[in-house]
Amino acid sequence: MIMDVGDKTDVVASLILRAERVVALTGAGISTESGIPDFRSPGGIWSRYDPDEFSFQRFLASETTRRKYWEFSRDFYPVVANAKPNAAHLALAELYRLGKLHCVITQNVDGLHQKAGIPEDKVIEIHGTLLFVVCLDCGKRYPRDEIQRRVTRGEIPPRCGACGGILKPATISFGQPMPAREMRLAEEAAASCDLFMVVGTSLVVYPAAALPLLAKRSGARLVIINLTPTAHDNYADVVIHGKASDALQKIITLVKAKMR
Ligand code: NAD
Ligand code: ZN
Repeated sequence: MIMDVGDKTDVVASLILRAERVVALTGAGISTESGIPDFRSPGGIWSRYDPDEFSFQRFLASETTRRKYWEFSRDFYPVVANAKPNAAHLALAELYRLGKLHCVITQNVDGLHQKAGIPEDKVIEIHGTLLFVVCLDCGKRYPRDEIQRRVTRGEIPPRCGACGGILKPATISFGQPMPAREMRLAEEAAASCDLFMVVGTSLVVYPAAALPLLAKRSGARLVIINLTPTAHDNYADVVIHGKASDALQKIITLVKAKMR
């Protein structure tokens, strides 16, 4: 049966209402409408920077790479720090307030789910956050704004004030180990939900891309909302190719109407 987008949003709203535990997985695509470019779309970050150059191994190996990374990050961070949640983040936050969203697993490092009103402990950041900086030698964490001030004054790459060690934004780079606690929480959430909603991710970056499959294997329904086809569209019960804000706003309106 071929459904149009209106029918599909209606099906998703019904799935949400019937579900006991809804978990969302989000990616860069949910934040593009807040003015933060994603990696893989035309004009995305990877069309301007080479991802290999920013691997964790290269960061550790060379002072020159660290300087380049910090120059990129100095310019990218203000975009993130000044970004506001868009209608898609706000719709998920509303779903949470309605008691219909258990938690969000996000690959994003922008903190916009929290800014939209989802409590900190309900946002699982599996790729870390840009809002903190960490010392790779002693583990000390710094608020980003403090380091950003030093970097803007030209202290590039910055050094740890406590031990002189290597500072890195608290994000997970390619080649860097995943955070153990967040991955455990994400896997538990995926395995224990009965509806898993993917929003704004191409599902090509692992292990994040394995989470929808884990949810599916554990018996959950799978909904994918993304502008372009993803690597796992075949496994989904409903796929909506469109803007996250449009789809989620429609879904929320329908959920609220059906709850009355
Ligand atoms: P990706 O770039 O691989 O995929 C983003 C997907 O979102 C694309 O398939 C694109 O078609 C889709 N998309 C773009 N705009 C959309 C919209 N308005 N509505 C719906 N879909 C839209 O990103 P990814 O899969 O999330 O993974 C790349 C990595 O980049 C992640 O690990 C993340 O850590 C990092 N990243 C984060 C941010 C951020 O925090 N905002 C920004 C860029 C990259
Ligand atoms: Zn240190």
